[in-house]
Amino acid sequence: MTGRFAPSPTGDLHVGNLRTGLAAMLIARSSGRGFVIRVEDLDPVAASREHERDQIDDLAAIGVVSDAVPIRQSERRERHLEIVAELRDRDLLYPCYCTRREIREEIEAAASAPNDPAPPDAYPGICRELTRSQRSAHERDGRRPAWRLRAGGELVSFLDRVAGERSGVVDDFVVVRADGVPAYQLAVVVDDADTGIDQVARGDDLIPSTWRQIRLQQVLGLGTPEYWHLPLVVAGDGRRLAKRDGAISLRQVVASGVPVERVLEALLASLCSPWLEPVGGDPSEPGWAMEQAGRFDASTLVADPVVIEDLRALWGDGTA
Ligand code: GLU
Repeated sequence: MTGRFAPSPTGDLHVGNLRTGLAAMLIARSSGRGFVIRVEDLDPVAASREHERDQIDDLAAIGVVSDAVPIRQSERRERHLEIVAELRDRDLLYPCYCTRREIREEIEAAASAPNDPAPPDAYPGICRELTRSQRSAHERDGRRPAWRLRAGGELVSFLDRVAGERSGVVDDFVVVRADGVPAYQLAVVVDDADTGIDQVARGDDLIPSTWRQIRLQQVLGLGTPEYWHLPLVVAGDGRRLAKRDGAISLRQVVASGVPVERVLEALLASLCSPWLEPVGGDPSEPGWAMEQAGRFDASTLVADPVVIEDLRALWGDGTA
């Protein structure tokens, strides 16, 4: 039984990501599970080893440490492609030559029926039934296909431990990108299953991915982990955090004069109320995480988005 945190090394983790990582570790440890970090470096352009190292260091600074050496998704390409081959042999995949623009135009043209349960960005099935000659024509035009799963438009429901009952209709989503790289949805499902992950804690922006992933688990005969989708830390107007929101990475906050322990205390206090006792101890000590996990009560998890200014108020300006 293992929980995990799986950041993409495409930049600095901001305090919201760190908060999710801290929660993932506490949820795993307090439920008697192991905990691992996985490096989701599928995107060969955006991901870098430098970001990976910084992210792992920042997580360690707040006591979020993996039981095992973090697995890199990019190193599991063969395994991902093995599963792709299995799906293809079962005739569950089809090549899709659409550009994003073509998909968008098709969605806009087909005014969706009221009460349509499908998500507004669902793939409208343009390439689902292409004939052989239509495919060859696309190939002759030099188009490289992505591969989509014939998902069957199923309605998938799950009980999220934070967000409650959620459900969505699964469209034919991409499992191999047009550049041949296995897509996030496929890699996540395969890696979680292969490494015994039975608990997934992550940001609630990934809820719409969850029914896709559950559908893929069903197709592959895999178990479904328990899900904990945590609200994001947002800017004052509800937007996702961005550079213009000032100091948002741990390094930036620490450089502004706030000790790491204060940031950690603020993250804990924002995560579950109340975190009454001072945190104390040294997050780099092996026993620290277990001690905090012993105090953690998942039933007090805060299910509303947290505004960055509220976090800043919690950690203060470092002078007090
Ligand atoms: N790598 C994804 C991200 O950083 C998270 C994937 C997951 O937890 O399933 O947003």
